[in-house]
Amino acid sequence: MALREILIWPDPRLKQKSKPVERVDDQVRKLCDDLAETMYDSRGVGLAAPQVNVHLDVIAMDIDQTSAEDKPDGVKHEKHAGGLFWMINPKLILAEGEFTYTEGCLSVPDEYEDVTRFGHVIVEFQNRAGKIERREGNQDLMCVCVQHEMDHLMGKVFVEYLSPLKRNRIKTKMIKQQKGD
Ligand code: ZN
Repeated sequence: MALREILIWPDPRLKQKSKPVERVDDQVRKLCDDLAETMYDSRGVGLAAPQVNVHLDVIAMDIDQTSAEDKPDGVKHEKHAGGLFWMINPKLILAEGEFTYTEGCLSVPDEYEDVTRFGHVIVEFQNRAGKIERREGNQDLMCVCVQHEMDHLMGKVFVEYLSPLKRNRIKTKMIKQQKGD
């Protein structure tokens, strides 16, 4: 396994649409491992391949590591068996209702803003063995995270849901921080 560098918004490479994985082979599984290691290293709950400049439809997620204390909004988190899992070629097969959640992103460090998305989703994807799997999220972090990470595959970062004023404030801050490194 290896840590990969996370692209920081507004890096234009985050806007690139990723491509479906044709075959889940060892190279894809290596990417899965690297995504997980990089995600845990940055204490994230999800990481999509485009965030490490690999433009394939692959996502690592583990929403169980977030404790209730980390979330001042007090949203109750459902426990999902398994903790870490990967979504390869995910597709929403159900999307309905609405849910607002305070989101963050490893590509937009230390910025948290409310985003409204679908409240109930079912996602179908291939797991790292290439088998079809489904997960459901309903008014919870699962439903938010699935949609947030799938957006990355389409070249979309959560700040694009914010007002231009908020987005520009964050953009200025990110550029300033990048220059400071
Ligand atoms: Zn993100």
